Amino acid sequence: HMPTAQLQALDAAHHMHPFTQGDELAAKGARIITRAKGVTLTDSEGHEILDAMAGLWCVNIGYGRDELAEAAARQMKELPYYNTFFQTTHVPAIALADKLAELTPHDLNHVFYAGSGSEANDTNIRLVRTYWAQKGKPTKKVIISRKNAYHGSSVGSASLGGMSAMHAQGGLPIPDVHHINQPHWYGEGGDMTPEEFGLARARELEDAILELGEDRVAAFIGEPVQGAGGVIIPPETYWPEIQRICDKYEILLIADEVICGFGRTGTWFGSESFGIKPHVMTIAKGLSSGYAPIGGSLVCDEVAEVINGCEFAHGYTYSGHPVACAVALENLRILQEEGIVDRVASDTAPYLKKKWETLADHPLVGEARIAGMMGSIALSPDKANRAAFAADPGTAGLICREACFANNLVMRHVGDRMVISPPLVITHEEIDTLIARAGAALDQAHARLSD
Ligand code: PLP
Repeated sequence: HMPTAQLQALDAAHHMHPFTQGDELAAKGARIITRAKGVTLTDSEGHEILDAMAGLWCVNIGYGRDELAEAAARQMKELPYYNTFFQTTHVPAIALADKLAELTPHDLNHVFYAGSGSEANDTNIRLVRTYWAQKGKPTKKVIISRKNAYHGSSVGSASLGGMSAMHAQGGLPIPDVHHINQPHWYGEGGDMTPEEFGLARARELEDAILELGEDRVAAFIGEPVQGAGGVIIPPETYWPEIQRICDKYEILLIADEVICGFGRTGTWFGSESFGIKPHVMTIAKGLSSGYAPIGGSLVCDEVAEVINGCEFAHGYTYSGHPVACAVALENLRILQEEGIVDRVASDTAPYLKKKWETLADHPLVGEARIAGMMGSIALSPDKANRAAFAADPGTAGLICREACFANNLVMRHVGDRMVISPPLVITHEEIDTLIARAGAALDQAHARLSD
């Protein structure tokens, strides 16, 4: 219970934060979150802040559910750790695998556990390459991804990702990863209709396969809705065309559901919302609502059968960690038994959409879009022409994010896009508060940017 300033000084002295400029942090001091309940965070100064990001897009069932703490405590007392290597297993890993097979669409009946989404995507790189090698096609190694995609921070997953700042750190992407353009109509669509643009961007996959050679391409990976790239909701024509191309050229399709999974888009998985039938799905975040670190690769019958025909030389100490599995199971029980995903589809998401889209009337907002419970607005100096802020992209977003904080609202900025992904349990009243605070923050940001 030290004073905030003292905690901030210790933090700046000893703690290196992800995606943060350390000396700026030292100058301003980090915001210290001390507890949370439902959708509300409390900081060390006693401010009550509406978390419209569900942490990092993960606290789907909301904060403060004692049942998950109790599940963790029970499991820690019974069996705090055992591994799943070398023909051993334990009940939580079995029970969670069985539950996931029940919840996932079509024949995604097998899970390879990881500790995070990054680790799961690293698994996927080796999984799809091993699959093709086992099938006698070892040259099929290339994984095609998209620019501005986010698939994690490890060397493999950041290579799959298309974040230029991460690649610029040196040595990335690793060999045999190829990036095509993203389906971002608002920013890059020019004079095309969204439908034309969606098809054009999807056909870049076909061009890339033909250019690289069918015999070299192993898989395509994409987030149903790009999250960290700015909540880029693809035109309706995009995913069906991607699916057609993957089927035509026998390319494995990996849906990265780390954000979209577990109800975020109004169905259990984003693939269902967008009509995608992947061979592999990456999951993490909402799997445990962030209460314990856990991720995984969900694998279809055919791919699992091939992989199971060899010893897949891959695994993590925490693959199928019993405490994380027990917490995830309890989280899935709550999501299912409380009908949270159904309520999102029938009630919460339509209400949020109606309110969120009113922000498009604000003079600073060029578009306001939402898919289920993940939305974005594009800040624009000239909304009639879908113009972006020319100088120093991101400044307007940063100003807006700071204004949100000042209004006790956590919204994230990605360049000049503001994004939300609130806990799925947010109420109508809390949505009204979110929109009111976002509106006030936009007014303040607009005033500052017009100075
Ligand atoms: N994939 C997607 C789509 C993500 O959004 C993220 C994280 O934000 C990851 C993978 C990486 O997950 P993690 O941070 O758990 O490693």
